[in-house]
Amino acid sequence: MRPRILFPLFAPVTSLAGVGPRIGAAIERLAGPHVADLLWHLPGGLIDRRYAPKIAEAEPGRIATLTLEIDRHLPPPNRRLPYKVRCRDETGFLHLVFFHAKGDYLERTLPVGETRVISGTIEDFRGEIQITHPDHICKIEEIHKLQSVEPVYPLTAGITQKVLGRTIRKALANAPEPQEWIEPSVVSSRQWQGWRGALNTAHEPQAESDLDPGHLARQRLAYDELLASQLALLLLRARMRRQKGRTIVGDGVKRQQVIDGLPFSLTASQSTALEEITGDMATPTRMMRLLQGDVGSGKTVVALLAMLVAVEAGTQAVLMAPTEILARQHFKVLRQLAEPAGIRIAILTGRDRGKERAAILDDLASGAIAIAVGTHALFQDDVAFADLGLAVIDEQHRFGVHQRLTLSGKGRTPDVLVMTATPIPRTLLLAAYGDLDASQLTEKPAGRQPIDTRALPLVRIGEVVGAVQRAVENGARAYWVTPLVEESEDSDLAAATERQQALSTVFGDRVGLVHGRMKGPEKDTVMAAFADGSIAVLVATTVIEVGLDVPEATIMVIEHAERFGLAQLHQLRGRIGRGEGKSTCLLLYAQPLGETARARIEILRETDDGFRIAEEDLRLRGGGEVLGTRQSGLPDFRLADLATHHDLLAIARDDAKLVVERDPELTGNRGEALRTLLYLFERDAAVKYLRSG
Ligand code: ADP
Ligand code: MG
Repeated sequence: MRPRILFPLFAPVTSLAGVGPRIGAAIERLAGPHVADLLWHLPGGLIDRRYAPKIAEAEPGRIATLTLEIDRHLPPPNRRLPYKVRCRDETGFLHLVFFHAKGDYLERTLPVGETRVISGTIEDFRGEIQITHPDHICKIEEIHKLQSVEPVYPLTAGITQKVLGRTIRKALANAPEPQEWIEPSVVSSRQWQGWRGALNTAHEPQAESDLDPGHLARQRLAYDELLASQLALLLLRARMRRQKGRTIVGDGVKRQQVIDGLPFSLTASQSTALEEITGDMATPTRMMRLLQGDVGSGKTVVALLAMLVAVEAGTQAVLMAPTEILARQHFKVLRQLAEPAGIRIAILTGRDRGKERAAILDDLASGAIAIAVGTHALFQDDVAFADLGLAVIDEQHRFGVHQRLTLSGKGRTPDVLVMTATPIPRTLLLAAYGDLDASQLTEKPAGRQPIDTRALPLVRIGEVVGAVQRAVENGARAYWVTPLVEESEDSDLAAATERQQALSTVFGDRVGLVHGRMKGPEKDTVMAAFADGSIAVLVATTVIEVGLDVPEATIMVIEHAERFGLAQLHQLRGRIGRGEGKSTCLLLYAQPLGETARARIEILRETDDGFRIAEEDLRLRGGGEVLGTRQSGLPDFRLADLATHHDLLAIARDDAKLVVERDPELTGNRGEALRTLLYLFERDAAVKYLRSG
C-alpha cells in the first residue's frame, strides 16, 4: 500500500483548484497525470523582473518592473490603432500600449492618478519609451511579488505559462514533508536541502546557473530518483539471491564433444567467460550475468557451452532471441554444433502452432527436449519445462528483456545469462542493471578479415552500382541498406522497394528485398536465397542489423549513411568480413555533410573496435541518448541525467548496497522512509519483493 503521506501527490492533476478537464488534459500530455508529475516538471528558463529603473534610464529590450503613476488614458480613434495609457514618474513619460483593448477593463485596472507596479519589455518606439501588453500590473503593496525572478516552464499547446506556473505552485504548496530517506552524511557532505526544500528551490531559480543540472537542488532531486532506481534493482537482485538457487555442475563430457567438433579453438576471452559462467552456475545462488561482446566476437558458442553445462547436470536450457529471424539462425547454428553430441534441440516461436507446437510442448514438459531456442513465445503461459536450469537471453541491442523475464518468473528460477552485442559504457550498465556481473569477449575470433571502409557522396552511386556489378560477376554477394526516410516504416519500405527496382535493371532477378513488414516465411525464403547465392544483392531496411550471418557476403553498401547512428553503422558493417573474402563497406552520404555525421564516418573508417566506437558515440551524442533510452529498456529518468549525474549514480549504488545489507526488509527507521521513496518514484514492485521475499 502506498504511504498515506503520498496520497496528494498521486491524486489526478484535476484535483488541484482551478484545473478543469481541459487544462488537466494539457498537463497530462506535458508532464503526466498526477500531481507528482508537476513537481518533476522543472523550469527550463527564467525571467528576471528585478530590474527596476526610472523611465529616463530604462533600456529598450530589457524586462523591467517600474513604479508608475497613471497619467492619462488615450483611447484610439479607430479599432485598428492601439489603446494607449500614458504613465509617468519623476523622470518622464512612458506609454502602455494595448491592441484590441477593452477600455472599461483598462480604466478599472489602471485608474488615472493612482500608482501601479508594471512589468514588461521596454521598447523604443520612434524615440519614445513604451511597453506593449505588460506581463503584470499590480498595486504598490504587491511590489515584492513582482520584482522577482519568475520560472519559465516548458509548455505545450492548450496551457499558458501563467496557468502552468500557478498550478505548479499549488502542487508545491500541497507537497508533503516526508522523513529524509537519504543517508544523513550524504546530505550534509553534499550540502543538500531536504526533499521539499530542494523542490522549492528547483522551482524558484534566481539565476541562470540555478537551471544547471549540477545545481545543488537539482542534484538532490536527481539523487532521489537514482537512489530509488538503484534500490529497486538491488532489492530485486537480493530477492533472486535469496530464492533457493541450485548448484548446476556438469561432467564436461558433452562440452568436450562439441568443442572437439569445432573448426576453431576458443579465444582466451571465450574461455574466461565460460569459467566465470560455470563458476556462477556451480554456486547455490542464482546467476545473473551479462555476456558482452561485439558483433562476431563469438557469443553463440559460449552460450551453447553454458547450456551444455545445464544439460550435463540433467536440466534443460533455453535461448531466447529478440526476433524470429534470429531465433531461426541460432537454431540452425546450435543444431549443427550440438546434434553430433546427441543433444535434442527444438525451436519454438510465435509461428509454430497446432500439432507441431503441441508436440514440442509435450517434449519440453517431459524433458525429452534438452535445449529450446525461440522468441518470447518460450515464456508463454502454456509452456512448461521439466526442469529449466539456464535461460540465455540474446538481447542484441534491446535491454531490459531479462527484467520482464525475472519479474514474471512464476516460480521458475533458472540461472540467467544475458547476451548483448552493444558495448555498454559502465555508467549505462549500472543504471540499467544496478550491480550486475559481466563477462566480456574482447578479441575477435581468428580469421576475421579487416574491412575496407570508404565514404562516397551519393552522387557517385552510379560508380558504386558498377563496382558491385563487377564484384558480383566474380561471385561476390552484397547487402544494400536503404535508410530511414522518416519516422515511418511505409516510407522506408518505399525507398527500399524503389532501390530494388532500380537495381534489378542491372542485376535482374538476382536482387532480393527484405524489410520489417515481411512475414516470417517470406523473409526466410529471401534470406535462404541470399545465403545459397541465388540472390546476389540483398536490398534491406535496417532489419538486417540484428545478427544475420552470411559469410559469403563481402560488400555492404549503406545509403544515406549520415542518417544512421554510429553504433548502428557499426552493427551493419559487422554483417560482412565474416568469411574468407576481402570485404568492403561503402558509406554513401548526402552533401553537405554535417559535423557530427562527418565525425561518425571518420571514426568508422578509423576503427573497428566496438568499445571504442561506443565511447565515441557517448561523446558525440551525450548521455542517455546513446542507446536510445526508450527502446533500450534503460530506466527513463525524469530528474537524473546520466551524462551529468554519473557520480551521483555511483554514490546511490553504494548507498543502496549498504541499505540492502543492513536492512534488507526496509523495516528500520530509514527503511520506512526509503519505502516512501520507492513509492514516490513508482518502484512499488520492489516493495512487493520485500513482503513476498
Ligand atoms: P556474435 O558474438 O555476434 O553472436 P557469433 O557467435 O555469431 O558472434 O560468431 C560469429 C562467427 O564466428 C561464427 O561463424 C562463429 O562460428 C565464429 N567463431 C566463434 N568463435 C570463434 C573462434 N574462437 N575462432 C574462430 N571463429 C569463431
Ligand atoms: Mg550472435
